[in-house]
Amino acid sequence: MRLVLLGPPGAGKGTQAHRLADYYGLRLIATGDMFRTHVRGETPLGLKAKSYMEAGELVPDDVVIGMLLSELDKARNGWILDGFPRTIPQAQALEEALADRESPLQAALKFKIPDEITIARLAGRRTCMRCQRTYSVEIKPPKLEGICDACGGVLEQRADDQVETVRHRLDVYHRESEPLEKFYWDRGLLREVEAVGEVEEVTHRATEVLDDLLSTE
Ligand code: AMP
Repeated sequence: MRLVLLGPPGAGKGTQAHRLADYYGLRLIATGDMFRTHVRGETPLGLKAKSYMEAGELVPDDVVIGMLLSELDKARNGWILDGFPRTIPQAQALEEALADRESPLQAALKFKIPDEITIARLAGRRTCMRCQRTYSVEIKPPKLEGICDACGGVLEQRADDQVETVRHRLDVYHRESEPLEKFYWDRGLLREVEAVGEVEEVTHRATEVLDDLLSTE
């Protein structure tokens, strides 16, 4: 399966992306995680991306498109993209690249959630600095405070999860990324999932939509 996830920051896309990738045996490509790894490693790409990320701005299209396309070629058995595309030019670049590879996108799955809920979620989110798993101080705390259940890494609040930066990220989302819904709707690829609720419940809704899609292909 070839799938992109859409929805505002804080909709739970990262968590659901991991779960769906496990469920369907797909490669997960999360551009935000890739950038954070580059920033930590102080690579040339990381140095380019850092100031944009910390300000809650998008990294320029040419930088992110180059990084994504080289990653796509490593994923032969299907993939899920989390955090890409975020602009129409990115979606067009993806569409062209997939046409060249004769492996078109099968769905754009949108996670629907009101802004107030995402603001509250992100303020309480803690991220593992090693494996990028996320936790919620109130709803999904780790077994041991400040430590990742999965890998034992240290949990921290991302700089861009501070409330003011979150509001800015949401503005950027509405301006730059929401038009993607029409882009994919026009191509008959848009599917929607209600993202408010328990993690398991949301995964269940997503797999129902995707199983349905697979059975009709
Ligand atoms: P995320 O973890 O998906 O919320 O991404 C964190 C940050 O990485 C974003 O706020 C952007 O600064 C940057 N980023 C990730 N993916 C993209 C993308 N497709 N286009 C531009 N910037 C991105």
